[in-house]
Amino acid sequence: MADGISSFWGPVTSTIECCEKNYAYSSYIAEFYNTLSNIPTILLALIGLINALRQRFEKRFSVLHISNMTLAIGSMLYHATLQHIYLQFNLGNSRVMKPLWYGRCCYTCTSSTHQIGTTCSTMPTFLFLYGALFAVVHSVIRFGIGFKVHYVILCLLCVPRMYKYYIYTQDVSAKRLAKLYVVTLVLGSLCWFCDRVFCKEISRWPINPQGHALWHVFMGFNSYFANTFLMFCRAEQREWAPKIVHFMGVLPYVKIEKPKTQ
Ligand SMILES: [Zn+2]
Repeated sequence: MADGISSFWGPVTSTIECCEKNYAYSSYIAEFYNTLSNIPTILLALIGLINALRQRFEKRFSVLHISNMTLAIGSMLYHATLQHIYLQFNLGNSRVMKPLWYGRCCYTCTSSTHQIGTTCSTMPTFLFLYGALFAVVHSVIRFGIGFKVHYVILCLLCVPRMYKYYIYTQDVSAKRLAKLYVVTLVLGSLCWFCDRVFCKEISRWPINPQGHALWHVFMGFNSYFANTFLMFCRAEQREWAPKIVHFMGVLPYVKIEKPKTQ
């Protein structure tokens, strides 16, 4: 983590640092790979957003994609500058935007079961208040581990919903999306963990595999698969005849056909 070229952004004020060497390639970018590795997330979210808007999906799906994009841009700023202020912005974003994200996700799930009733608004309202409260408490008392526990709890809240959907859907391509979601999550977490825990050992290797940058890439795909899967399930329940098709033969996305009356 020794500094190379002189830094444009001044001394590092961030408390969290990754295993990448600072200012190794440019005096404008503190962590080169950790900064650039956010680009796939932004592009994927942009593709998702265009798809959601073009086919007139409900607004919450655009919000999902935009929140992913905002997180990636925040992460880029943070890794490029290593200034504490961007870390604050980023963590705040994850603390507030992510709960909203999950609230929306669960909302999508509950409201789409056709039994639109109390369960439909209770969960997102609860998550929204919880997210707001957590953000306030966290800005006063800083508990590093609390942030991680909070994040894990939110992930766990969403998993049963996703699993229920996975069981319900008959579409093989949609099921594959759910599997890809799990695979990217596991691989990404593994990269993040190794970068964090084995940094000393990894730094002695001739080439640093850039675990943290890989985590960014995997999580970009992870969010995209999650959103696409949710879009598919939502479209299925609204009877929009969704199909998983592939953009340029590779990237899966949802294509729908709304009945004329809608
Ligand atoms: Zn990062």
